[in-house]
Amino acid sequence: MKVFDPYRILGISPEANLEEIRRAFREKARQLHPDLGGKKELFLELKRSYDFLCARLSPNRLRIFKERPRGDNYLLSFLDVTAKELALGATVTVVVPGKPKICPHCHGKGQNPSGRKEKCLLCEGQGEIEFLGAKRHLKIVCPRCGGRGKVFVDICPHCRGRGEISGERELILKLPLGARPGDILHLPPREENEVDIFFELQVHPSGNIVFEGRQLVSRVAVSFWNFALGRPLEVETLEGYEKIFLPPRFQPGTFFTLPNRGPYREDGSREDLLIKVEVVFPLDLPPTARKKLKEFAEIMEKEAQDATSGYQS
Ligand SMILES: [Zn+2]
Ligand SMILES: [Zn+2]
Repeated sequence: MKVFDPYRILGISPEANLEEIRRAFREKARQLHPDLGGKKELFLELKRSYDFLCARLSPNRLRIFKERPRGDNYLLSFLDVTAKELALGATVTVVVPGKPKICPHCHGKGQNPSGRKEKCLLCEGQGEIEFLGAKRHLKIVCPRCGGRGKVFVDICPHCRGRGEISGERELILKLPLGARPGDILHLPPREENEVDIFFELQVHPSGNIVFEGRQLVSRVAVSFWNFALGRPLEVETLEGYEKIFLPPRFQPGTFFTLPNRGPYREDGSREDLLIKVEVVFPLDLPPTARKKLKEFAEIMEKEAQDATSGYQS
C-alpha cells in the first residue's frame, strides 16, 4: 500500500503552519481541480491531504469521546451538523453555554442610561429626603434615584432589563475526522475558570446524503425506464453531483459503493460511499407510453413462452 504523505502531496515542509498549508492547497487546487481540467484522483488526494493537516493543526479542534463524561464539572450541549459536514470534518460555528455576566451597558441595573428620564417621585426631584424629627433634621440620599432626582424609564436594550447577559459565546470549531453519529465531542477548557464542554452530535441529512447508522449513504431515485436502459445516474457525492453508471447486473433494493469516497477516518483515509438506488414508477403514464409498455410486455411474454415450449419439445 502506498504511504500517505500529505506534506509531499501539498509540496510543503512538515513544519508548515496552517496559513502555509492553505496557500499550498489553493495553488495546487488551481492546477488539479477537475473543473479546470485536472485529474479527479489527484485532486481528491490533494483535498484529503489538506483536510487531514487542517484537522490536525487547527487550534479549535474538537476531540472524539466515546463515552459520556464523568463527574459534574462540565457542560453538555448539542451540536447540529449535516451529514456532509461530519463526513468531511468541516468547520462549524457553535454557540457554547457559559455563566451569565453583569450587563456592561447598564452595569447590572437593567435601565437604559442613555434613554428617557423622568422626575423621581420619591424625592420629588430633590435627590434627598428630609426627615423632620423633634430634636434634629435628618437628610438621606434618595434610595430610588441615588441622589440624581431623576430616574431612567427605559429598560436597557442590551440585556432587556435583566441586568445580566448570557455567557454564551460563538466559537468556530473544527469537527474531528472520523467522528460519526452517536459520538460525543469534547472541547477542553480554553481559558482559566472555564469547564470542559461536551457535545452530543445531532446529524441531519444534507440533500440526498444521510448517515444510516455509522455508514454514509447517498440516495438516488431513477425512473424504471432509465434503470432498465442502463442510463447513467446523477448521484450526489461529498464532492458534488456526478454522472455514474450502475454496475452491470445491478438490481434495485441493493447498494453499490464508490470506494474511498465516503467519510474520513481519523487517519485521513476514507471509507466507501454507499449508493442506494430507488427505482421509481410513475403513478400515471401517458396513453401512448402505456400502449408501448403493453407492446413491450407482449414481446417479453412471447419470449418467455417460446423459451418454455422450446425446452419442452
Ligand atoms: Zn443592561
Ligand atoms: Zn429620588
